[in-house]
Amino acid sequence: MATDFDNAAGAGLDAKQALARLDALEAALQAETAAAAGTADPVALDQTRQGRLSRMDALQQQQMALEAQRRRQLQLARIGGARRRLARGEWGLCTQCAEAIDPRRMQVDPTASRCLECSD
Ligand SMILES: [Zn+2]
Repeated sequence: MATDFDNAAGAGLDAKQALARLDALEAALQAETAAAAGTADPVALDQTRQGRLSRMDALQQQQMALEAQRRRQLQLARIGGARRRLARGEWGLCTQCAEAIDPRRMQVDPTASRCLECSD
């Protein structure tokens, strides 16, 4: 991570670097998804295996797992969008006003699709 900022005087990412960042982000998300496999499954109704309190804990944990799963899916969709913009040569341009997005912003979040003014 830190090496990104050590590059050429804070210049923006080029397409190759952007793709590498997207690949890394996606790989991390897939690893998280694999590690979380099963955690968002419905909680078993069988209370002989877990007491009342632990069932509530399990439900709460399932909710958190579902939330994390939604967040990962959203992020994967954002990565997919960034890949399509890269392929079309539109990566780094705001999808709303077509102005160039601040390269520092793209470096922090290579999936950013809008400039600062357009992102609410
Ligand atoms: Zn804009």
